[in-house]
Amino acid sequence: MTTTTDRVAVVTGAGRGIGAATAHRLAADGLAVGVLDLDEPAAKSIAEQITAAGGRSLAVAVDVSDAGQVEAAVDRVAAELGPPTVLVNNAGVTRDNLLFKLTEADWDTVMGVHLRGAFLMARAVQKHMVEAGWGRIVNLSSTSALGNRGQANYSTAKAGLQGFTKTLAIELGKFGVTANAIAPGFIATEMTRATAERLGMSFDDFVAASAQQIPVGRVGQPEDIANLVSFLVSEGAGFVSGQVVYAAGGPKA
Ligand code: NAP
Repeated sequence: MTTTTDRVAVVTGAGRGIGAATAHRLAADGLAVGVLDLDEPAAKSIAEQITAAGGRSLAVAVDVSDAGQVEAAVDRVAAELGPPTVLVNNAGVTRDNLLFKLTEADWDTVMGVHLRGAFLMARAVQKHMVEAGWGRIVNLSSTSALGNRGQANYSTAKAGLQGFTKTLAIELGKFGVTANAIAPGFIATEMTRATAERLGMSFDDFVAASAQQIPVGRVGQPEDIANLVSFLVSEGAGFVSGQVVYAAGGPKA
């Protein structure tokens, strides 16, 4: 029987933020982890930290919106760590603007990373999952999927990822593969730091103001999401599929 310690995970956008916390958490759970990111030094640093802590890890520089790079990255992980059967589509970007100022480039970049990226990664990794008769896919959606001012592109992509997730669950279920989405609320990372800057607020003020609107009285940390990924990719989560779990410190954004 395959145990958790034989499993290989791929986490995209794992050079920092939620992806880095997820890579660390899955490594602590005993999985080997492919740390994929656009930013190669950041990916290397996370992979080295995992290795130094006794885990198995490999850093791979990749733009998830490029089909050739995605195929090559997944092939490398399979060759050097083993066939990946856990995929966390976490890489993300924002290009926020009100609709009348949103450029086609802003639209295409966001769709490219979130939607095309998740599609290319899932297509590349699913063959290993189908061969193994087991797999776990987790896609990072967002509470912005419900609509968010200044994020017509991002909210569309994050809502699209929910439909993508449900369809993967339907198509891949018979191969022992589950697919779920996590929709985080406010998580303290470089992404929300950039939002504070765009709004002309200090990050501390932005965090404090946001926390007041969140029922649990605080903003989220990357580890809050990593903990949930850990459950969704575990053996015990095999009957949970096609779901969107909002992790926002309360029932809504
Ligand atoms: P982050 O700190 O900005 O990290 C995102 C990572 O993705 C960065 O390391 C970035 O690399 C990488 N990346 C960007 N484009 C890429 C590409 N084309 N190929 C490969 N890697 C790429 O963001 P985060 O806050 O941790 O967010 C992680 C995920 O959670 C995203 O999907 C985000 O939309 C989602 N999310 C975040 C929040 C939040 O409040 N933070 C809430 C809801 C959902 P570079 O540094 O080189 O750009």
